[in-house]
Amino acid sequence: MKYPNKEIINYFNTFNAKKQKIALIPHINPDGDAIGSTLALYHYFKAQHQVQVISPSDFPPFLCFVEGADRIVNAENDIQQAEAFISEADLIIICDHNAANRSGILEPFIAKSTAKKLMIDHHPNPSYPVDYMISDIKVCSTSELVYNFISTFHPDLNNLTIASCIYLGIMTDTGNFMHNVQEDTFDVVAKLLKMNIDTAYIYNKVFNNYSEQRMRLMGYLLKDKMQLVANGKVAVLSLRKEELNEYAYVKGDTEGFVNLPLAIGQVTASVLVMEHKEEIKFSFRSKGDIAINDIAQKHFNGGGHKNAAGGRLEHRNMQEVEKELIQIMEQYESRF
Ligand code: 5GP
Ligand code: MN
Repeated sequence: MKYPNKEIINYFNTFNAKKQKIALIPHINPDGDAIGSTLALYHYFKAQHQVQVISPSDFPPFLCFVEGADRIVNAENDIQQAEAFISEADLIIICDHNAANRSGILEPFIAKSTAKKLMIDHHPNPSYPVDYMISDIKVCSTSELVYNFISTFHPDLNNLTIASCIYLGIMTDTGNFMHNVQEDTFDVVAKLLKMNIDTAYIYNKVFNNYSEQRMRLMGYLLKDKMQLVANGKVAVLSLRKEELNEYAYVKGDTEGFVNLPLAIGQVTASVLVMEHKEEIKFSFRSKGDIAINDIAQKHFNGGGHKNAAGGRLEHRNMQEVEKELIQIMEQYESRF
């Protein structure tokens, strides 16, 4: 379902009659789509309602430029404020995730809340217990679904701030229009362009805004840490804690690294494994018809889209983890 159904439309038509308290929740470790979709809704609702974006964790610094980002509550820094707002909310909108555990430390507060819950998302197999759902896995981004939502109520929408947030989500989730794009994506982008969004500005803020250390870490990773396995078809990249420290890693620095080996003709899938303090995080990418999300789900407690998935394991010896990862990818060699 790409648009709000009659039930949702009716709900909002009554809802708008009086000032409401709305909590907007992106997923843990929010990306451009999670921030873009929640902030678009924030700017949309704030004229009439009391609205707060509450993130389960911090977001990467390259997303700080988005209007309203400075007003996001990071629950890691202010859990009381997050809990209080959620417990008093009339409506909670869950954006860009469809499973309760992806709300991170906010999960128990959201579960306890008596607010109405609306989920807007584009991942497969939704399991979040909500009252209303806008969910379509064919749509490139949650931000595009948010555009459809807003324009259902305001077909004449002309708001540069909202348009810029939506464009951010579409641009980041499609890898700057490289994957998942449909005819509708470009229809929506055409509407955003009519609202005068500055595409070059947004692109430069996201993709050309890294530190020197991040560039050097990328060089090191590709030169010394990339292994080609499964007959050269799968690239495995790994970064340990000491290596991240050496390059003064900050959150967001490794954004996009997992895609780099896909530039090699014979490589059809790529995995980045990273050692964090509490856990080991995996990013999976694949080309075209080759699915990777089932592997993330089956072996790495994760999931995601056909060509872009993630997962996590409890912290343990990285050498063993890397060995196991390679074994698992080799098991699936015939698919790559
Ligand atoms: P990334 O590699 O950028 O962290 O994640 C890629 C995609 O995989 C994201 O769009 C996200 O939906 C999904 N993903 C990442 N980590 C997890 C996870 O732990 N569980 C699930 N179900 N999906 C994940
Ligand atoms: Mn998304």
